[in-house]
Amino acid sequence: MMDDLSLDRQVANEVLFRDRNSSVKNSLKDMLAPDVPIYFACECTRLDCEERIALTTEAFEALHRDRQQFVIKPGHETLAVENVVDTTPDYYVVRKSRPVPEAGEPE
Ligand SMILES: [Zn+2]
Repeated sequence: MMDDLSLDRQVANEVLFRDRNSSVKNSLKDMLAPDVPIYFACECTRLDCEERIALTTEAFEALHRDRQQFVIKPGHETLAVENVVDTTPDYYVVRKSRPVPEAGEPE
């Protein structure tokens, strides 16, 4: 059984991945057509996860308009901190059941 602190830590990990993905997206956005997919990092709680998810910038922005939502590989959900709200063959959209910090903590 994990305590609240480690659950918060897991949410912080996902925020870290999302912020990195957003930087990648922002640096590529002006160079790519909106329907060209970018390979984003899986935003699951595992810091050592190296899975990639192909998403267009449009789809990436749409699902992150809700700051409680993250994109992960199917099967990478952590049900202690999130619920699966949308499924596709390539990725799941999960919504946090816990508060999400504004940005990842600096390491
Ligand atoms: Zn993952």
